[in-house]
Amino acid sequence: MARPVRVRIAPSPTGEPHVGTAYIALFNRAFARSHGGQFLLRIEDTDRTRSTKESELAILESLRWLGLSWDEGPDAGGPCGPYRQSERTEHYQRAAEELLEKGAAYRCFCTAERLEKMRKEQEATKARPGYDRLCRRLDPAEAHRRVAAGEPCVVRLAVPPEGATEFADGIRGENVRIAHEEIDDQVLLKSDGFPTYHLANVVDDHLMGISHVIRAEEWIPSTPKHVLLYRAFGWEPPVFAHMPLLRNPDRSKISKRKNPTSLTWYRAAGFLPEALLNFLALLGGAAEGDEEVFDVSKLDSGFELSRIKTSAPVFDLKKLEWMNGQHLARIALDVVLPRVTKAIAAAGLASEAALAARGEWTHRLVD
Ligand code: GLU
Repeated sequence: MARPVRVRIAPSPTGEPHVGTAYIALFNRAFARSHGGQFLLRIEDTDRTRSTKESELAILESLRWLGLSWDEGPDAGGPCGPYRQSERTEHYQRAAEELLEKGAAYRCFCTAERLEKMRKEQEATKARPGYDRLCRRLDPAEAHRRVAAGEPCVVRLAVPPEGATEFADGIRGENVRIAHEEIDDQVLLKSDGFPTYHLANVVDDHLMGISHVIRAEEWIPSTPKHVLLYRAFGWEPPVFAHMPLLRNPDRSKISKRKNPTSLTWYRAAGFLPEALLNFLALLGGAAEGDEEVFDVSKLDSGFELSRIKTSAPVFDLKKLEWMNGQHLARIALDVVLPRVTKAIAAAGLASEAALAARGEWTHRLVD
């Protein structure tokens, strides 16, 4: 029997809330809604040096502004807060122990100096970059002794030395195959006890019952590592579906040097959430026929992954401006009125109460 549909977005709170997060969220949510499933938000904040609370807040604010609400959080009965990986470290530590016991992972005691020297040598000799697996040959009893003596270590994935890992992609419709010699013995747990993206992502997707991982194509090289982890744990992997990346007009990966990427910027610049979502839906290929201007809620029924275009979608700001105009012309006055009064109040021109008291006048002003 097919698993119940549960999908998620898993942004890392490092910097401005990215327009790509809204793009991926929109399609995940449409897929969940179309299949009577759940859409989750998980903040992947295990990188302690780069994650910030401000960035997390900005992500939540932007998703709320866009109306891309999520269905579930850890506080049962309370406000639907997102899941946060920094609050779940015991799950990842337990999972790393399990992999060590199964021989699918090993402890590595190599110092930063040794790894740096190795990297430089690989660079000089043009050898394949990656860990040389020195600690993989350590006797487990010896590794235990060193841990007990307080020596810092990380836990690495023991990638099979030969063969390849394959997975089917739910959007591309073809198998992606990556040879094991191309895959590094990835660090799973860092010496501070925090997991890396790979371990935390897989453990959470499993524990949260995620059925479909719909994410950007830049994660394709990580997926074989994830598949190896699912196999090592003996867990059923989700369907992986990689969406094409948004592109600058010159076809390079969307970047803030060539195109605004921050959702906060779009909001401040006066774009309507309806227009931005419509534009993102169009980029992903969600339009039916020639219709370009539509309400994205129509994706909430009958949306299938096969509708997503695999060709590189170009983010054309001019087209978004045009789309914004189309939505502005259509928007109902009672929808726009509270937004305008909030904006006037936020700019300090008049209080919301004063505007409400002069209801008729405000109405005419906005109209
Ligand atoms: N934390 C990753 C990100 O920042 C999640 C990627 C995924 O969806 O697996 O996008």
